Amino acid sequence: MMLPPSLEELIEENHPVRVVNQIIDRINIDPLLKKFKGGGTSSYHPRMLLKVLIYGYLNNTYSSRRMESGLKENIHFMWLAGMNKPDHNTINRFRSERLKDVLKTVFGKVVELLIEAGHLSLNEVYTDGTKLEAQANRYTFVWGKAIKTSKARMEEQLKELWSYAEGIAQQELKDVTPESFAPVSPKRVSQIIDKIDKALEGKEISKKRRQQLNYAKKNWPENVTRYNQQQKILGKRNSYSKTDPDATFMRMKEDHMRNGQLKPAYNVQLSSQNQYIINYSLHQNPTDTTTLKKHLESFRSLYKRNPYVLVADAGYGSEENYKILAKHNIEGYVKHNQFDLQQRSQPNPYRAENLQYDDKKDVVYCPAGKPMKPTGEITTRITANGFKQKLTKYRAAKCQSCPLRSQCHDQKGNRTVNINHRLRKLKQKADLLLKSEKGIRYRKKRPADIETVFANIKHNMNFKRFMLKGINKVEIETGLIALAHNLAKVAA
Ligand code: SF4
Repeated sequence: MMLPPSLEELIEENHPVRVVNQIIDRINIDPLLKKFKGGGTSSYHPRMLLKVLIYGYLNNTYSSRRMESGLKENIHFMWLAGMNKPDHNTINRFRSERLKDVLKTVFGKVVELLIEAGHLSLNEVYTDGTKLEAQANRYTFVWGKAIKTSKARMEEQLKELWSYAEGIAQQELKDVTPESFAPVSPKRVSQIIDKIDKALEGKEISKKRRQQLNYAKKNWPENVTRYNQQQKILGKRNSYSKTDPDATFMRMKEDHMRNGQLKPAYNVQLSSQNQYIINYSLHQNPTDTTTLKKHLESFRSLYKRNPYVLVADAGYGSEENYKILAKHNIEGYVKHNQFDLQQRSQPNPYRAENLQYDDKKDVVYCPAGKPMKPTGEITTRITANGFKQKLTKYRAAKCQSCPLRSQCHDQKGNRTVNINHRLRKLKQKADLLLKSEKGIRYRKKRPADIETVFANIKHNMNFKRFMLKGINKVEIETGLIALAHNLAKVAA
């Protein structure tokens, strides 16, 4: 140690830190540089900070304080940062503010580099989702249903208070009946309570009623304002967490104690190819079915094209998704919810989706082989995404005398079924693809491709909970995790 070695000598030739350094050095980070005004605003180069963050995520170091320590104690961090020592505030600000809106572009550039190097292609993608816990308190929830119930209860109590007041001060309230009590709004609630209060002035009323009126006057307008604000935050969701309003309560996968708990989380959608992540998107809805449209938009915004083939599990097999895939000329190997069941066992002959349909005669054959004729009723169902589904109704005849009646249905009178013809045809098409030689190959490869990516993130990288709050910041973290996963794979 008379002549101390340089850091360069101490870093192994194939160490992942060198991969991070090389690849981030090679990509164009102009969109990120544009975020810095110049004129001495930052003393640390964004490229160096980006390398530190990606290496931190690759090294299971997610906290900015631990990265700060690493920059003082860990030779890999020290080498990568060129002995610069940004503190945790600088690292955190860079992560949550500077990377906003630009990290995805950086991610796309890295994927393009990997494509050039022959590691992967964008032609076929494997898509799946997982729920990752948010950085939010697990017990500070707001439920949409509870808000609706509270508003309805308030409306009822208001009506009840009004009728009570009418009973006592009929004369005073004769000409001031409110147009309606619903929908409750802070202004309307205040006005009605004021009218009741005015009408009951000087009247003999019970102590309980006086207390109720005082309570209503003091709290109800404020409560309605709060409920309205909460409903605005909720949007189309059923719940959110008070400590991260962007996070939705979702049922997480069971742990080893078989506890499938509701936790504030985000639905992370990933697409992989050759176990590299090539696309990611964040969703506030727990079901995968509704995420494909936005996820593919993200793919197109990254690479200005669509994949040729998309493979996904039964969670994505909906009419809307099949149509999206067809619209973009993507060969979709996507199971529907009955596919696995049909493969494993004899299909249940009584289920509506297993009844035979005759195109020419426009009849559905019931389990007894008798024709069910169209009733002429066509209903429209609107999905959570606003997609319209058309259902045609068919009715059987003489069910009462049928020996299969008890197994077939428990409807009153003759059995009716609603058939979605568009979905039926799309499912038939999907079945053909899935059962083809290519389809079998893709189905076998799907778990080995995308699910290993989730296993790596959750178990090897031990990333089970986001560090930041808010969907924009959580998206940045997902991007960092995706970059770290890809670069670790290159290094391996
Ligand atoms: S109960 Fe009605 S619908 Fe069912 S098999 Fe018999 S006739 Fe057909």
